Amino acid sequence: MFGLKNDWDLEPPPRYFTLEDYEGGVARWCPGCGDLAVLTAVQKICRDEQIPPEKTVCASGIGCSSRFPHYMNTYGFHGLHGRALPVACGVKARRPDLDVWVATGDGDCCSIGAGHWVHATRYNMNMVVMMFDNHTYGLTKNQSSPTSPVGYCSNTHPEGVWLPPLDPISATLGFTNASFVAQTIDWNPLHLYQVLRDAHAHVGFSFVRILQRCPTYTSMMFDELQQDPSKILLIAPDGEELDPTLTRTYKNTVKHDPTDIDAARKLGSQNEPLPIGVLFRQPDHPVYGDVTERGIGMGAREKLEALDREMDRFMV
Ligand code: SF4
Repeated sequence: MFGLKNDWDLEPPPRYFTLEDYEGGVARWCPGCGDLAVLTAVQKICRDEQIPPEKTVCASGIGCSSRFPHYMNTYGFHGLHGRALPVACGVKARRPDLDVWVATGDGDCCSIGAGHWVHATRYNMNMVVMMFDNHTYGLTKNQSSPTSPVGYCSNTHPEGVWLPPLDPISATLGFTNASFVAQTIDWNPLHLYQVLRDAHAHVGFSFVRILQRCPTYTSMMFDELQQDPSKILLIAPDGEELDPTLTRTYKNTVKHDPTDIDAARKLGSQNEPLPIGVLFRQPDHPVYGDVTERGIGMGAREKLEALDREMDRFMV
C-alpha cells in the first residue's frame, strides 16, 4: 500500500480493561453501606481477570444489594423479588460463555427466593452468587429477615424477633450437589477480594455469604466482630498460604480441608468465633451447564463464536 512499509503491523493492539470500564451509574447506597465494598471488589476482579464487560452479566432480585447491576457497566438484569437465580440460570443455560454474577440479599435469597436457592445450588451452573447478609430488609425500611437474630427489633417485630435465625451456610451445605460455599465480611477488602476471586475461579455454583454492614438499620449488628478480631476464625485451606496481612489482623486460624463436607458443616455451623474463608470446594460435582452446552449443539455454538469474533472487531 502506498506510504506504508511492508512490515507495518495493522493489527489493533489487544484490549486492556481498566476499572473505569466496569463502572456503571453512580452508586446510590447509603454512605458507609457495605454494598460499596462488594462492588469495588467485583470490579477489581473483573479488571484483574480482564473479563470483557460485554461478556459479563449481573443478575439480581429486589433489595438494596439488588441495585448492583445498575452500578456495573456490563449487561444486567434487575429482576423481581427472589428471582435473581432463575434469571441467572436462564442466561447461563443459553449463553454458557458469559460470566455471570448474582447479587441477592438475605431476604431475597432465603425468604421469597428460597426455592430457587435450593435448586440452583443443585444445578451447579457456573456462576458466582453473592448473598449480601445484613440481617434486615433495608430497601423496605427495616423488616425482620430470615437471618435477623433473636431479639432484633424491627418494624415487623417491634418487641423483638423470637425465632432463631436461618443459617445460610449450613443450609447451602445441606443442599444436594453444593460445590462451593464460602463466607466473608465486607469490612476487610483483602479477604472479600480473595474469597470472591476464589469463587469466580471455581467452575460451578459458587455461593458466598457476605456479612454486610447496613449503617442505616443494623449498624450495631457487626460491631463486636469488627472491633474484636479474636471473634473471627480465619480458614486456612490445606495447601494454601494465608496472606500475612490477614494473619496479622486475625490471629485465630484453622487448617481445613475444603473437600471434606463433614468438616465444612461442622465448621460452618459455628458462630463464635465466626469462620471466614472457603468452607467447601468440590470441583468434581456435576455441572448442569455441561449438559445444556451439549444441548445447544455445535452448529449454534459455532455461529455464536463467529458472532463474537465479529463483535470483537468493532469493540476495539
Ligand atoms: S438501607 Fe442499609 S443496606 Fe440499604 S443502602 Fe442503606 S445502608 Fe445499605
